[in-house]
Amino acid sequence: MGDKQSEPPPPVKRYRREEKSSESEEDIDNYEPYVPVRERKKQQLMKLGRLGQVAAEVSAETKSSSDNDPDDDTSQEEWGRRYNVSLLDQHSELKRLAEARALSAAERQAREEQHILESVAQSKALMGVAELAKGIQYEEPIKTSWKPPRCILELPPERHDRVRDQLRILVEGEDVPPPIRTFQHMKFPKGILRGLEEKGIKKPTPIQVQGIPAVLMGRDMIGIAFTGSGKTLVFTLPLLLVCLEQEIKMPFIRNEGPYGLIICPSRELAKQTHEIIQHFVKHLKMTGMPEIRSCLAIGGVAVSECMEVVQRGVHVMVATPGRLMDMLDKKMVRLNVCRYLCMDEADRMIDMGFEEDVRTIFSYFTGQRQTLLFSATMPRKIQNFARSALVKPVTVNVGRAGAASLNVRQELEPVKAEARTVHLLQCLQKTPPPVLVFAERKQDVDAIHEYLLLKGLDFANIQHVINYDMPEDIENYVHRIGRTGRAGGEGVATTLLGRAAESSVLKDLAHLLREAGQKVPSFLLDMIGEPDVPAPDGQGCSYCGGLGHRITECPKLEAVQNKQASNIGRRDYLANTAADY
Ligand code: AMP
Repeated sequence: MGDKQSEPPPPVKRYRREEKSSESEEDIDNYEPYVPVRERKKQQLMKLGRLGQVAAEVSAETKSSSDNDPDDDTSQEEWGRRYNVSLLDQHSELKRLAEARALSAAERQAREEQHILESVAQSKALMGVAELAKGIQYEEPIKTSWKPPRCILELPPERHDRVRDQLRILVEGEDVPPPIRTFQHMKFPKGILRGLEEKGIKKPTPIQVQGIPAVLMGRDMIGIAFTGSGKTLVFTLPLLLVCLEQEIKMPFIRNEGPYGLIICPSRELAKQTHEIIQHFVKHLKMTGMPEIRSCLAIGGVAVSECMEVVQRGVHVMVATPGRLMDMLDKKMVRLNVCRYLCMDEADRMIDMGFEEDVRTIFSYFTGQRQTLLFSATMPRKIQNFARSALVKPVTVNVGRAGAASLNVRQELEPVKAEARTVHLLQCLQKTPPPVLVFAERKQDVDAIHEYLLLKGLDFANIQHVINYDMPEDIENYVHRIGRTGRAGGEGVATTLLGRAAESSVLKDLAHLLREAGQKVPSFLLDMIGEPDVPAPDGQGCSYCGGLGHRITECPKLEAVQNKQASNIGRRDYLANTAADY
């Protein structure tokens, strides 16, 4: 360098050197930037071999900024460049710092998922206005007079665990009541036992074995059971028992009640539940028990019909949220003596947009109630929602939440969209009627309507469900196919799979088949572009329960959020238009 400076190079070379910026490099080499005292002190410490200590100081200084952004390690790079330490030392030190601070990919994903989940979880508590205003929190479950028979109480806890293991019942919660394997040991009155007999019901299903004793003891409960598992009896039979007890103690007077409220997301479900109650009420009456009155508060049934019962004093009300809200709002009915609340198919209720209605309904309660929540699928957002309203709940799970019934043979058939209606006719030959056909779009339902007699949601013994198309999310698929294979019977579900199905739901489907021990057809693997169904990544999606994707890619969550976003816009628009008038 010194030689070059003493012997100036020819102009052309200078030009070339200028082009390569070698002159400026030289300038930079010679340039000594101002180093603040604090930095110089650090440099000295570095030279004295206190690299680790300084690094820790630097790390502490930059901690808050990098905490906000774990990907940001530019501060460390600057730190490395600033000090006159060998590259090897700098490299290994930076590597150590980066490793210590950066979250592993899995941790990061878990954190991100947790974050998403928290943002969609229900944070507002489900409480009555009086409870909120007075800050009342119920700590202990409601007390009932029912106790398990002594022969069950005397059994050791290991025996109860064994029964749960045998029946694949998973329980969570404090002091879970013992499972009971016969209706007689549940101490039901003769009328109920006769009603069960008439329906050909001999012994309790797993959800009943564990769920009925829990409800009879007054416990709040989250029941996770596939459709057709017999969950309706878990919340109706104990309710009838407490209503009888109340009626015997002090007969219901005019306009009193309801004592028990059952909320369902659809009219059909409410009707079915009401019919089941009526069946047992009839049998109880036949054995000389007092009359238990129940009414149906749903759209499509005249309000006057329901009010007739309410005016006589009503024990049980089965309702859909809309009609119930309307009646509460008009003060036609009150929940001041209501002590038993059941939400059936709670996940559907939330999916169908009844969340705010449910909150409003809760606000009409004036005292502690026993709260039960039932659902075939139970994504964590609903569990959070439930926990805010339940007191020391017992969770009874008889199958992975969101899993398909093992009683259904799932058959998939690749069919082009235009060939589906013709193919449907072939599918209909698989089993004797009735067959239930689902389709996503109303116009498809209209188009195939002529082939079918849609008499209602719950035909007895449906042997075959046909999905004219694949539903947009796997929860819907599970609900649809759950209409067959009920009460231990075998069922068939045929799904016509065309190109229109989203790959995310197809992956969920492949996992669901594998989980149910069924063959995943090769055309499905081709459609999802995987040679085999990979093991599920953890528990799958914590929002919708699909095993083929994580919450970060959940199509259902995305759809819900899009819908909410568009509703916000619409609400604003409507509010503005209303304000304009
Ligand atoms: P659910 O899951 O409550 O909709 O019940 C589905 C069907 O199972 C209904 O038709 C019930 O009558 C029937 N069922 C309920 N409990 C039992 C039982 N313990 N044994 C046999 N069938 C039952």
